[in-house]
Amino acid sequence: MAAGVEPRPEDHAPVTPDWTCGSCGEDWPCATKRTRLLEEYQVDRASLSVYLGSCLAAATQDLRTGPVASLQDRFIGWVPRSPRTS
Ligand SMILES: [Zn+2]
Repeated sequence: MAAGVEPRPEDHAPVTPDWTCGSCGEDWPCATKRTRLLEEYQVDRASLSVYLGSCLAAATQDLRTGPVASLQDRFIGWVPRSPRTS
């Protein structure tokens, strides 16, 4: 099940310190990356939150120009609440 972690052009990986998508140039996580993350972490949403939280922490250090609340919304706010944990 372990996938390779080598960066590829279609990886939609973040480019720091601007936190834009390395594939499509949109603010990271872009729409494509968000869809992939939900697929990748669909059975382990807690780990997705941890991952995005670490990204948010790093981005907060890199992107000091905007309010933190908007970064939280950008990195974490898009994740749908899962009702399946009840
Ligand atoms: Zn992208």
